This record gives sequence, C-alpha cells and structure tokens, in this order.
Amino acid sequence: MITTTSSSSGHCLCRNVRYRFEGPRTWACFCHCEECRRNCAAPIVAYIGVPLDGFRWQVNEQEGTEPAFYPSSQGVKRFFCNQCGTPMAFQAEHYPGEIHLYAATLENPQDFEPSFHVHYREKLSWLHLDDSLHRYPGSAPADPDQRI
Ligand SMILES: [Zn+2]
Ligand SMILES: [Zn+2]
Repeated sequence: MITTTSSSSGHCLCRNVRYRFEGPRTWACFCHCEECRRNCAAPIVAYIGVPLDGFRWQVNEQEGTEPAFYPSSQGVKRFFCNQCGTPMAFQAEHYPGEIHLYAATLENPQDFEPSFHVHYREKLSWLHLDDSLHRYPGSAPADPDQRI
C-alpha cells in the first residue's frame, strides 16, 4: 500500500488530455501482458491504481470530460488522447471504483514506485530486469491485502 495522499496530476504528449487526483494511490506495478504491451507499443508498462473518488479527467480544457477510449475487451476502456495518440489509462468493470493510470503520464513519473510485477509469464525474453519485486505469473490477487 502506498500512502501518498497529496494531489497528483498527469498529461498526454500534447497536453490536450490531463487528469488530477487526490488521495491514496492504492497500488503500483509493472504489467507484462501482451494487450498492455501492444496498447502502449512498449516492452513493459507501469501502472498506478487510483480510486475513482477524487479522480478527474480534463480534455481540451473541459473539466470532467472523458477522453476517447478503445474497448479492448468486454467492459474495458483503454483511454487515449485522440490528438496525439498517447495511451492514458485502463478502466474495467471487473475492477469497480478504480482507474489504472499509465504511470509514465504522471506530471512527475519519478514520483512513482512500482512494488510488483503482473503477467510476468508474458515477459519478453530479451527484457532483463534485476529488481527483487514479486513477480505474479498472471494477475495479482484482487484483494490488495492478499498482495505481497
Ligand atoms: Zn495528447
Ligand atoms: Zn496488462
């Protein structure tokens, strides 16, 4: 559990899509799944989980407007900026009450500390990582208290 409670913000490459949130980041991880990899065209994706309470989008200066999204599977929205194409976030009906932000879109991505890996069985063989974080072969347990 990450206990940062200050407000944070992020934006896409062209700054048309922005977000802000208050309150705790409930988790932070790396995802190696193929869908995230293709969505971000990156070998590995870093996420933070944030409660939807206290989270706000801003698109084209319009407060509270959702950005464009691609429904990559049933009940899933993968948000992106429709001007510059930056992937922004993942939201799914099977994770109610939270949004998963692509951490590289944070105003200050240094202000982020991943604590585990998910879908590690899909990791690219040429990607070498030397951290000692826990590696879940698939998803992490839904209950945060069950996570390492
Ligand atoms: Zn943009
Ligand atoms: Zn993924």
